[in-house]
Amino acid sequence: MIRTGQQYKDSLRDGRVVHVNGERVKDVTTHPMFKPIVDIRARIHDMQHEAAFAATMVAADDVTGEPVAIGSKLPYTQADWQAKRKAVDTVFDEIGGVVTRVGDETVGEMWSLWDGRDVLNEVDPQFAVNIERHIRRVIAEDPFHVSANTDPKGDRSKRPQDQDPDMLLHVVRETDAGIVVRGAKYETAAAYANQAFTKPTIANWGDSKLSEYAVGFICDLGAPNLRFICRTGFAQRAPIDDYPLSNRFDEVDTLVIFDDVLIPWENVLFYRHTRAATFIRATLHRYSAFAYVQRNLRTADLMIGAALLNVRQTGLDKQQAVQEKLSQLAVWREGIHAHLTASIAMAERSPAGLLMPNQSLLFTGRVLACSQMHEMMHIARELCGGQICVTPDAAAFRDPETAPWLEKFYSVNENWIADDRRKLLAFARDLLNSDYAGHRLTFQLFAQSPPFAHLAAVHRNFDWDATAAAVKKAAGLSDRVDAKPVAAVPASAPAPAVARAA
Ligand SMILES: Cc1cc2nc3c(=O)[nH]c(=O)nc-3n(C[C@H](O)[C@H](O)[C@H](O)COP(=O)(O)OP(=O)(O)OC[C@H]3O[C@@H](n4cnc5c(N)ncnc54)[C@H](O)[C@@H]3O)c2cc1C
Repeated sequence: MIRTGQQYKDSLRDGRVVHVNGERVKDVTTHPMFKPIVDIRARIHDMQHEAAFAATMVAADDVTGEPVAIGSKLPYTQADWQAKRKAVDTVFDEIGGVVTRVGDETVGEMWSLWDGRDVLNEVDPQFAVNIERHIRRVIAEDPFHVSANTDPKGDRSKRPQDQDPDMLLHVVRETDAGIVVRGAKYETAAAYANQAFTKPTIANWGDSKLSEYAVGFICDLGAPNLRFICRTGFAQRAPIDDYPLSNRFDEVDTLVIFDDVLIPWENVLFYRHTRAATFIRATLHRYSAFAYVQRNLRTADLMIGAALLNVRQTGLDKQQAVQEKLSQLAVWREGIHAHLTASIAMAERSPAGLLMPNQSLLFTGRVLACSQMHEMMHIARELCGGQICVTPDAAAFRDPETAPWLEKFYSVNENWIADDRRKLLAFARDLLNSDYAGHRLTFQLFAQSPPFAHLAAVHRNFDWDATAAAVKKAAGLSDRVDAKPVAAVPASAPAPAVARAA
């Protein structure tokens, strides 16, 4: 079943307890801070049913042949990845902006766990059955699926057991029906989504084989005893004419409180075994990073377009120094594009038989995209000029007393009238300079784990041995150099010759 926008909205009216800005939200589908982003998620559902978009957004299920959302379909071929990429671009074209946490960017986290079936089977075969069923359910039922990793965490110098134990989400008891969990997680979009793949944050389990904190499950976001405390939305804070992105594309983040929430056994994906928790943390984004990096690409396009139009309207694009800055933006943009494209062209088979984007190219692409975004925003901001932050509001362009003055000073030439210049400056301000712009920069930095974890993913996936082999050959080093240890050596044994030499 592919849901309609209305079915999605109806699914959110499940009695969930949502707070924003000190207010209890009666209905997230109509509340002004949530409505714009709920409408976009609903629009994505509706696009799947419209003749103009269906061929791009929907495909036949591999098992049942039924129409399913391209974003949720399991990837087996390069064509599957091209189709996913095209569907996301089509959504961005249709809505005129960028949204990230709308389902396709999180669903791949479950495929990573499916790749770890062997690990799950060692723990409890039921868990492997559960993940497979949940993957099939998302394909068949089209729920809005999000991601929950990050706990408040508290004092990192202490073990969770040595402080308020709820600082990390944990199991408090088992019942016949399932496990009961307590704690909290930061989750973008949870207040208006249907379910979240909930799992431990990056943790050092030490030697522990078992822990009540090592728990992963699908959380029904309509479950009793959940409470959603949201940060204030950007929508409706200021007029849409002045802040066109804040008002339309804010993806509201939530601290989700688990006040003894029952997770039925059929939704538990792993429990107590730290090995399963370690596996999922190491492989979590092997698919979903593609969708995340793709968001950076579209953001880069918007930044370049805004900067370009600003310098073109004033004739500054003829200056060589300006062209060099535009070229810097283009190099970054094309670097992201190249990583995404190459990651499909050189895709790899996963342990479960799916097709993963080439892991080294994907994760280096994520670092390229996210780590340079602040610098690129700064260049784009510079090219737009200081007028993005000093321009009066749209109301002043309409007020009969001030409008003539603004018409005069904001009309550049016969092609660039005051209203278009104002609109472009307002767009650029909201993209690069507003509170919302800063928020989005932080989102791209952190929301798919923090920068140190992005680099750790690169370290796990880059082919280090190939470079070492190249230097060993080029420098004529002996085969003993850098040889892999063949067996564990007792600590009391003398150090091997190579290590002694080092
Ligand atoms: C806008 C936004 C949306 C988000 N959405 C989601 C979501 O939907 N789901 C979700 O689960 N999470 C989400 N997050 C949370 C995000 O994953 C976390 O912010 C991130 O994991 C970092 O955790 P923290 O904020 O607690 O920072 P901390 O853990 O306090 O870390 C702060 C900094 O300390 C340093 N540091 C900490 N630990 C280490 C280490 N081991 N090695 C090296 N340096 C270290 C790093 O510089 C790190 O950036 C979101 C975050 C933001 C900002």
